[in-house]
Amino acid sequence: MNARTDPIEPAPSRVSGSLKVRVWRGRHSEGSLQNFSVERQPAQSVLDVVTAIQRHQEPGLAYRFACRVGMCGTCAMMVNGKPRWSCRTHVDKVAQNGTLVLEPLRNLPHIRDLVVDLTPFFDKQQRAFGRFHAAVTPPEDFAAVRPDEKGRREADAGIECIGCAVCYAACDVVAWSPDYLGPAALNRAWTLHNDRRDEAGPARLEAIARTGGCTSCHSTGSCTDSCPKQLNPTASIAGLKRAVTRHKLGWPR
Ligand code: SF4
Repeated sequence: MNARTDPIEPAPSRVSGSLKVRVWRGRHSEGSLQNFSVERQPAQSVLDVVTAIQRHQEPGLAYRFACRVGMCGTCAMMVNGKPRWSCRTHVDKVAQNGTLVLEPLRNLPHIRDLVVDLTPFFDKQQRAFGRFHAAVTPPEDFAAVRPDEKGRREADAGIECIGCAVCYAACDVVAWSPDYLGPAALNRAWTLHNDRRDEAGPARLEAIARTGGCTSCHSTGSCTDSCPKQLNPTASIAGLKRAVTRHKLGWPR
């Protein structure tokens, strides 16, 4: 396991005291931080804290979650200024001076409290041809794709994306240039580019070569540093830049 991310570490079996929690409340970016106090619990996640507030103190608090086990990608939020999946982020690791500041994900339109509108995020996956394009005439047999094939390994490296938008919120280029497709859409395009069963080919490369495409990336690596699934969108985007260059020069893949 890569040491840069947030492995689930054993939590202390006994904790005591309370946590100061400041939660963004409001609609469409108009609002302010509201203070709460939450009792500390062993192995407490940030999502546990938000749920405790919603169940016992402020039933009107809006937030999202579904699986609570790091699979669905719905519970991401800003935690003390950094985007994180809240269900697998331990309070012990991120609280600063006994305080959590929880805000909606950056770079996305705000709806209410901790909830953002993910429409632009998923629309960009479509713009990047982030879906499988099957052949018009299906092959007669299953494609045999060996695990040690280069393309298979490159596709597998980025395939576990859960669509949490943490990388999108971490990306400064998205903040400066809202038209930029962003790391998740481009990472998805890279996995499909390397899937030799996919038939989109040049159309996908043309789509991601346009303004706001892969060449807009500054390779600062914020997406890779923050991805909770330990993916490396920066490397995927670098691969796309090479692929687009070869395509423009008329070189073989
Ligand atoms: Fe989340 Fe990582 Fe996928 Fe970005 S690449 S959406 S951070 S899982």
